[in-house]
Amino acid sequence: MSEIRVRIAPSPTWNMHIGTARAALFNYLFAKPQWGKFLIRIEDTDKERSLPEHTQEILAWLNWLGLNPDEEIVYQSANEQKHKEIIQKLIDEWKAYYAWESPEELQEMRDQARKEKKWFVYKTPNYTQEQIDQYKKDWRKAVVRFKVEEKGLVFNDMVKWEIRTDTSTIWDFVIAKSDGSPIFYLANVVDDNLMWITHVIRGEDHIPNTPKQILLYEALWYDVPVFWHLPLLLNPNKSKMSKRDTSDTFVTVKKFAQAGFLPQAVLNFIALMWWHTSDDREFFTFDELLKEFSMDRVQSSNAVYDFPRAIHFNAEHIRNLTPEQFVEQLKNYIDLLLNNDALKLEEENELFQKAKYWDNLIKEWKLDDLDYVEKWFDEVKVRLQTLEQFVLYAKYLYDFVEVSDDILYNAKMKVSKELVQEQLPKIIDLLENIEAWDKETLKNTLISYNKENELKNGQTLRPIRSILSWVQASPWAFELLLILWKEESLNRLRRYLS
Ligand code: GLU
Repeated sequence: MSEIRVRIAPSPTWNMHIGTARAALFNYLFAKPQWGKFLIRIEDTDKERSLPEHTQEILAWLNWLGLNPDEEIVYQSANEQKHKEIIQKLIDEWKAYYAWESPEELQEMRDQARKEKKWFVYKTPNYTQEQIDQYKKDWRKAVVRFKVEEKGLVFNDMVKWEIRTDTSTIWDFVIAKSDGSPIFYLANVVDDNLMWITHVIRGEDHIPNTPKQILLYEALWYDVPVFWHLPLLLNPNKSKMSKRDTSDTFVTVKKFAQAGFLPQAVLNFIALMWWHTSDDREFFTFDELLKEFSMDRVQSSNAVYDFPRAIHFNAEHIRNLTPEQFVEQLKNYIDLLLNNDALKLEEENELFQKAKYWDNLIKEWKLDDLDYVEKWFDEVKVRLQTLEQFVLYAKYLYDFVEVSDDILYNAKMKVSKELVQEQLPKIIDLLENIEAWDKETLKNTLISYNKENELKNGQTLRPIRSILSWVQASPWAFELLLILWKEESLNRLRRYLS
């Protein structure tokens, strides 16, 4: 069997949308386990709408996701000469022709068909020589249209099964604009052939284009690749998600990265929107996806975007990191915020400022002291959903932070200022006298103290927790006492009183 070669062919006309990431991931997961090649082609023939910064972004985020191509990136614009040769070849073989109608004339033809309640299908006109001479004299510019033969066309789509088209409903479509530049249908087919693509795995929105493209493959005597059209992604309200909608939903990879998602969690989330194993397992590392993924379990129905699930996956992936991996991811995250060209955060951007602050903290924090990281990691990781939360909430691990009254005092829990002033010195004494600083001893000591003094446990444990950590989502009091250890814990409690 020949080598499997797949590609994604994004047009750099918008940000790196998760639809593009999905196409990349599914192509990658299909090809790589079979020793196939995963390639990238930037379809930049639409010169007005293609922007180099979009290309840069697409490549940067694919790299962030770890979906790197096996060969050099192909730019469609570089093949333009080849496209023009092929267009000429089709004209020479009478498979394509110049068409001279102006947009207004085409509109008239459409209106006429509507009036007659007919389906408008543009088919080869019979121009007379005089007509052609006149068009040329008028400086009209012709487009090139492909001549669609009438026949039944069936193609097998691996996700959508058999798709049948009667070509009498396909009009003679344009393959070159009046300036001679190629249209998507043609450039895409020629390039896939040049790149020896064996499987075209792309979004379902391309199904209507596929019969036209198959006609081109046949006219050019190219091998037709296997098509695999993946279902759509719908908004929570079931409307179709647009690539241009980059407002507040998390539809770009950039948004995920910026918010402190791990690349492997984003991949897991994307994969599971359209694919699952027979046992409905949810959590997959990238390596596991490569091992378990199979195209025959890709669903044929559309997926509904479910952002809470992405958070769930991210939390789960954070929990599965080793302390060492966690530190690495955290450093990558801050580096991304500060230095990534695709993010291009400006100095005055709030997140950039935060990142600068975190960067300093992290340097001060000596995060490379893995022994200490190991001490807190298990307690902290279960409370994190994103890396951003860590940088916001974990300062207490390395520094004393003044706790605010609204966190410390709580009427419902019966924790008042008076109570804290009265109890804290006694608790400090109590803790000072503990020799064996372990959970058992800490627990026994504090709980029996509460009993003897007719206090609810929360009345002493809550203030300890708040003073030691200042944040609400911190580990519990005993865990904190253990993480910070005796000296630092007592320092902080005393400091609060002073
Ligand atoms: N440029 C097309 C797009 O971005 C590529 C379609 C394909 O994968 O063939 O939708």
